[in-house]
Amino acid sequence: MHASDQQDAQKLEGGCYCGAIRYVAKGRPVMKGQCHCRECQYISGGAPHMFLIMPASGFRYTKGEPKRFARSDLEQPVTREFCAECGTHLATLRPDLPAVILKAGTLDDPSVFGAPQMAIFTVDKQPFHQIPEGMPTFERMPPR
Ligand SMILES: [Zn+2]
Ligand SMILES: [Zn+2]
Repeated sequence: MHASDQQDAQKLEGGCYCGAIRYVAKGRPVMKGQCHCRECQYISGGAPHMFLIMPASGFRYTKGEPKRFARSDLEQPVTREFCAECGTHLATLRPDLPAVILKAGTLDDPSVFGAPQMAIFTVDKQPFHQIPEGMPTFERMPPR
């Protein structure tokens, strides 16, 4: 078995800070990374946003419904899902991606995140952001 296959299909569970929203994400993480974009800085508190991309087919909310926000001034905005009660940002959906971008901090056990594989949107990186040495970085999205 290949080393990267160790991250096989998983059943990840998580939710928001207050417990009103719960989710299950099944499948194999498509990618794990840290996003330095300006938008994520608002939501994270200033740090890069630690995310893992999970297949949309294995993701569902099991309790509550998140509130959704998408900017109206962009042509292809992402949709951000968050708890209307406690404000926790849980997931981001991209119009061009059949997957759910989950925030590592909302996992019941955030340590299963392991480590990010790449840093994206370093165009917006702040001087106090850390990128582990040797990690691939991309000014915006990695090429597909
Ligand atoms: Zn909540
Ligand atoms: Zn971002």
